[in-house]
Amino acid sequence: MVLDVSRINHAVPNSRTVHVGPGTQSIDALTTLSKQQTQLLTGTCPTVCPGGYYSGGGIGMQTRKYGMGSDRLVSATVVLADGRIVSTSRTQEPELFWALRGGGGGNFGVVVDFEVRRIDQPRAVYYNTQWSFADIQTVLPAWQEWTATASVDLGSTMVAVLPDGLPEENTLVFVYGVHHGTQAALDTSLDQLASLAGAAPLSRVSAELPYAEAMQKMYGCDQISMEACHRVGTNPEASVHRGTFQRDAFRFVSRPFAAADVSRAVDTLVADRHPGQTRVLNCMSVGGVANERSRSETAFVHRDAQWVMGYVATYADANPSAADAAAATTWTDAGAVALEPFSTGAYVNFPSYDLPDWREQYYAENYPRLVRAKTAFDRYNFFRHPRSIGA
Ligand SMILES: Cc1cc2nc3c(=O)[nH]c(=O)nc-3n(C[C@H](O)[C@H](O)[C@H](O)COP(=O)(O)OP(=O)(O)OC[C@H]3O[C@@H](n4cnc5c(N)ncnc54)[C@H](O)[C@@H]3O)c2cc1C
Repeated sequence: MVLDVSRINHAVPNSRTVHVGPGTQSIDALTTLSKQQTQLLTGTCPTVCPGGYYSGGGIGMQTRKYGMGSDRLVSATVVLADGRIVSTSRTQEPELFWALRGGGGGNFGVVVDFEVRRIDQPRAVYYNTQWSFADIQTVLPAWQEWTATASVDLGSTMVAVLPDGLPEENTLVFVYGVHHGTQAALDTSLDQLASLAGAAPLSRVSAELPYAEAMQKMYGCDQISMEACHRVGTNPEASVHRGTFQRDAFRFVSRPFAAADVSRAVDTLVADRHPGQTRVLNCMSVGGVANERSRSETAFVHRDAQWVMGYVATYADANPSAADAAAATTWTDAGAVALEPFSTGAYVNFPSYDLPDWREQYYAENYPRLVRAKTAFDRYNFFRHPRSIGA
């Protein structure tokens, strides 16, 4: 059974919080709230919605400064399996409130409203730098040091992209994101990155903008219409796809790579390239304010992570051949092996394909408490899927 919550898509601010629907695409929340001079924490894609995003944790450009998306939850309204509609907060049904902040979507009930603390961040600085793939050996560890030590104003992603058929030497590494301070502070910070890398980027652009515009640029939506910057199918012009074939292996990482580890990570990225396959090494900064909470304060346990790093394989064809699918799985499995020595767990919102010990990887010591919450609020296991709590 599929419950379509895409039309529960409100974004309504009040004095200190915002009420947002589970099906509100990030781009709509940002656009609506910018007219009311406020904002909320969103992910790095315009189509991601609170329903899954907040339920699983919620990492964004704002995480180092404002914490996990779910850390900002004040209350939620949930339809339980038995039809009851409950309000949950620190004082009302507190175990459900605890579980909703990192326990993962599709487990405890259908959230029909999230109330989150608002972000009063009127402006931000978008930036994007491009580096030669030849510099990845120094750019990767420099990016790790930079994002672990910079001001919490910095939000950043590093991606190395190997498009199908393009030789490594012609590909690029991107470091981009949003800085929540001033243009001058970002400029100084980007100089520090170049200094740590011992190399200059091939290009470097930045712009201080109203917050929603900075995020739209980070989403890559500044060159298309706002209507197009939506999930395909949600309006006639919407052009952002979720439909391609993808395999991935993501892990949280808390300690930096030494030179040999970087070599292993890069060797894994480029090894045995397969026709039709596009590969990405995707690294997002976490840490900062998100790590000021204890591992059990909410269901999101990964409070020592500095980064979430992953190997992603895609094909343009949503239904590739069995051999192509197997090649993608083999490669992402190798990625998981490369990340294993550094892994402190996996992220339920980046559901890595092969993960036999997903209970431990996603939830660690919080899993037994999640099972108790599941039993209390969904006694007959109505909401279930292969990796649901209690499966
Ligand atoms: C392109 C892309 C970029 C992403 N970038 C980020 C990122 O920067 N940071 C990050 O943290 N994550 C990111 N994600 C992962 C994202 O957080 C998860 O995919 C999340 O589950 C999406 O939630 P959704 O509601 O949009 O999706 P859906 O596919 O609708 O839902 C995902 C899961 O949540 C459950 N769910 C949905 N709505 C509800 C509800 N109302 N009540 C209870 N359960 C519900 C569903 O049952 C399902 O299990 C990205 C995903 C994509 C596709």
